[in-house]
Amino acid sequence: MPGFEFFGEEERKHVNDVLQTGILARYGFDGARNGIWKSNELEQAIVRVFGSAYAQLVSSGTAALTTAMSALGIGYGHEVIMPSFTFVASFEAVLSVGAVPVLVDVDETLTLDPAAVAAAITPQTKCIMPVHMCGSMANLDALLALCAKHNLVLIEDACQAIGGSYKGKKLGTIGDAGTFSFDFVKTITCGEGGVVMTNNEEVYVKCDGFSDHGHDHKGVDRGADLHPFIGYNYRISELHAAVGLAQIEKLDKIIATQKHNNQLLRSYLEAIPEVSFRVVPDPAGDNFSFLSWFLPSEQQMRKAIEALKADGAFAGSFYWYDNNWHYVRKWQHLHDAATLNRISDVQKAALLQVKTQDFSASDAVMSRCVSTLINLSWTEAQIHEKGEKMAAAIKKSLLP
Ligand SMILES: *Cc1c(COP(=O)(O)O)cnc(C)c1O
Repeated sequence: MPGFEFFGEEERKHVNDVLQTGILARYGFDGARNGIWKSNELEQAIVRVFGSAYAQLVSSGTAALTTAMSALGIGYGHEVIMPSFTFVASFEAVLSVGAVPVLVDVDETLTLDPAAVAAAITPQTKCIMPVHMCGSMANLDALLALCAKHNLVLIEDACQAIGGSYKGKKLGTIGDAGTFSFDFVKTITCGEGGVVMTNNEEVYVKCDGFSDHGHDHKGVDRGADLHPFIGYNYRISELHAAVGLAQIEKLDKIIATQKHNNQLLRSYLEAIPEVSFRVVPDPAGDNFSFLSWFLPSEQQMRKAIEALKADGAFAGSFYWYDNNWHYVRKWQHLHDAATLNRISDVQKAALLQVKTQDFSASDAVMSRCVSTLINLSWTEAQIHEKGEKMAAAIKKSLLP
């Protein structure tokens, strides 16, 4: 996943272009910036590379989700259906616009189970938000059909799936809006940053204004801009966009490297009959940033993890089931509705019921799953060594 492994001369050159002019802001200072518009350039590159009609850069992936939801009119009185396995930013964004996150089960795709989504739809449901976790995608055809049937919007949280695709279209460009994060550990990075992609001009114009205090960007200067609605400051800086411009040029190489390394490592685990792999709705569209694999039971997985750790072969692998950051089981602050600001009674009640909600279907998947991060910098020899070590430890742990 991490584009930071390919940081180098190209990133330094783009950043230096900005440092030469000293204009670190993306709007205004037209004369002094000497023709350097890194944020605009990166938005054009995103449109070209991913194929959405519009792209709005913002300061983070979380800001991108908040911006997309606001532009699509999601807020007070609305429910947003999202998966039990994701990054905390997904529910943070839902709460930030005043809506209620409705957590539902994932299946062996490690993304939303369409049947669980269908069962969770109520008259208050406004949006389905699949999260394309760990580089691979949700069953979008099934989710789009539910959206069409119930007149819902679909926002793709594609923050972890940059460069992935589904049936020939890039992830993040398929729903009413889609988001990427360019934080430091994502497939391509700006240091911090994010983007909303959409094919709807009206949604784009709203994202553009919302992420910059509601400015319509039509005045002769910023003081002359009008403000058709209230916004916030979720702007990206020129320095961050400059890094992203270098990174986006490396995306093809990043994905090709991940694919090669992923498939080579996978070949070692494939040789173990008890190991199975994540279901990928469109296998060609994986971005290959993680190798996610299962054992038949939680007990077997826990034994395997102990064996991997004992042999120093668990580094770079994640057991999300015990992780405090990515799975509902350990989101204590969410269970306790521990917000600093006062939230609506409806939001509070919805959060407090999460700890009594039945996630046994998700548990049955997540307790048997480990995701192994694929590095770009591995040598061929290192992958063979890692594969051999992992396979040996797992096999040993499976002995009676
Ligand atoms: C990283 C991430 C985000 C948030 O991105 P930030 O840029 O860190 O705010 C949102 N959703 C998912 C699934 C992520 O992995």
